[in-house]
Amino acid sequence: MDHQSSITLYEQEDHKFYLLGWEEQEEEGIVQTNQYVILSGKDVVLLDPGGAHVFPRVLANVAELFELKDIKHIFYSHQDPDVSSGITLWLSMTERSQVYISGLWTRFLPHFGIYDHRRITAIPDKGGVISLSNGCTMKLIPSHFLHSTGAFSLYDPTSRILFTGDIGAAIFPQGGRYPVVENFEKHIQYMEGFHKRYMASNNVCRRWVKQISSLDIAAIAPQHGAVIRGDDVKKFLSWFENLQCGMDLIETIYEA
Ligand code: FE
Repeated sequence: MDHQSSITLYEQEDHKFYLLGWEEQEEEGIVQTNQYVILSGKDVVLLDPGGAHVFPRVLANVAELFELKDIKHIFYSHQDPDVSSGITLWLSMTERSQVYISGLWTRFLPHFGIYDHRRITAIPDKGGVISLSNGCTMKLIPSHFLHSTGAFSLYDPTSRILFTGDIGAAIFPQGGRYPVVENFEKHIQYMEGFHKRYMASNNVCRRWVKQISSLDIAAIAPQHGAVIRGDDVKKFLSWFENLQCGMDLIETIYEA
């Protein structure tokens, strides 16, 4: 096996939420990515399953847990290559799956390869839901400009896990990766640089925190770095809504 075991973040009889196992070896010069999978009833939902680079590993992860035919929904938080460039591979491996991505990006996706447009659902700016065959609904929550202009988080009300795409992402130093945050104060240093440069501005951070304020969140699951859970969720939200980033720092970004 060339990858680590997947981690079960939530497990009830007919509802499970997994963080798929990472590559066995850390890779230099390539941003580390997290892929998540929800199994609810008979439906499998893939969250940001990634690009061509990680495809063989993610496929192996998934095949250990589920049958590919059960993949019904593929959610892309935004358009970046590490998120969505594997779209043609996934659509060809999963005959009945539907892809969900911001309507801003549907016309760009064909540049990753040719596929049937009927299998793509454009998420409107104000968000939406993914409805599963057992009646569960995943909420798609606007996360625009964090960092992509058309971005969404996905909230699973059963596990109370919020998948946030690049929000909460961390970039680990070589040899320093871990899947779940144990010391939030120490973890901040790995999130800081990424958020300051990739996120648009503090007022958007605040707007998103307001947007999710009514949700009961057990864990925040980002596409890079480590899962933030328990009391650390509150700490993260307060760090994030006070963050100066992007446009707030425009002079330091442009200055020589
Ligand atoms: Fe991104």
